Amino acid sequence: MSDLTTRHATPHLLPTLLPLLESAAQEEGLEAHALLEDALRARASDIHLDPHQESLRVRLRIDGRVIEALRLDVATGARLTNQFKVLARLNPVPSLAAAEGSFSWPPGEEGSEETFLRVTAVSCVAGEKMAIRFLAPPDTFRDILSLGVGEQGARGLRRWMDATGGMLLVAGPTGSGKTTTLYTLLNQLRLGESHVVTLEDPVEYEIPGINQIQVDEASGLDFATGTRSLLRLDPDYVLIGEIRDPDSARAALNVAGSGRSLMGTLHSRDAVGVVSSLRHLGLGDAEISANLGLVVAQRLVRRLCEHCRERGALPEREREWLGAMGVAPPEQAWHAVGCRRCDGLGFRGRTGVFEVWQPTDEDHGLILRHADEASLRRALKARGVTLMLQDGLTKADQGVTTLREVLRMGAILPG
Ligand SMILES: [Zn+2]
Repeated sequence: MSDLTTRHATPHLLPTLLPLLESAAQEEGLEAHALLEDALRARASDIHLDPHQESLRVRLRIDGRVIEALRLDVATGARLTNQFKVLARLNPVPSLAAAEGSFSWPPGEEGSEETFLRVTAVSCVAGEKMAIRFLAPPDTFRDILSLGVGEQGARGLRRWMDATGGMLLVAGPTGSGKTTTLYTLLNQLRLGESHVVTLEDPVEYEIPGINQIQVDEASGLDFATGTRSLLRLDPDYVLIGEIRDPDSARAALNVAGSGRSLMGTLHSRDAVGVVSSLRHLGLGDAEISANLGLVVAQRLVRRLCEHCRERGALPEREREWLGAMGVAPPEQAWHAVGCRRCDGLGFRGRTGVFEVWQPTDEDHGLILRHADEASLRRALKARGVTLMLQDGLTKADQGVTTLREVLRMGAILPG
């Protein structure tokens, strides 16, 4: 039975699934398990099953990029989609609203390393689209240095963890690795004697040894009531997830003001941008100045594969870009090549590009006088704090990533 359209297949990514599809074997759920195995091996964070008129596209997100892995005919695609519905205990009948379920894998093997997955199914014109997300990627939450924050940044973070009270805010756009940074810190705190409580919407990863509370506005557990209950638990550290509206901003301030150490994330282009964001969310200059302990701003860049990266002439586009930014262009630059170890992608994993801002007395004075972002940034530069762009350029120079990766990030950074 040849029901497989391999024209678009990327065989090196799917060594377990492909032979199974080509054989007549159709044991219940076997294909879904093979696809999970392949996706995990390829270090994918998400699997997308996208229906089209005459096929179903299987795509994998690896290091932040979506890569097409396979096209299946409609019947095989429907079988695969149904297998995931069974695994996630979703209603087999497509609904108009998005359906969400989760499961752990491999199933029923006690003591083995389990992976948690979340499945979201949405009805589209061409059929049912499905997204499967690995909730606890194997390589996350190790130690602070593994984030790529550097010695100086790691020292700042450890100092903050040793102190009592104040806010640690991780800033960046969606998908910049903010949650990974916070969970890495949580993991460190878990190993110590501290009492840690989180209030999250949603709880993204479950960490043993930490009390995690899920915000549930429908049953009256919003940020305000949740904060009041969790303070009664007498925590040393509180993680409040994303600060995105006046309520969560006020809740964060109440926690920090009560002498607890507070961690949260915030949408902001760079470190000093959090001051404007907090002002927009209704906090006053005095409240911000009194509670802002440490700010980490970050972006993610793909990490060059160390086995095949090459150094060569600097491409013209990168030369022009560096020139426009007033940065002296180097003669040579690192390039992605591709080998067996990185599935031909040239990159393997991602790393953060960081800016760690520990406000000084001078900075607190500037905030109190309602200084704007530009003045705060000037003060940082004058003190020689490494800004995100500089950290990115250093990592490109060291061959950790490419200048092109930093360019993609730099396009949205203030100069
Ligand atoms: Zn390679």
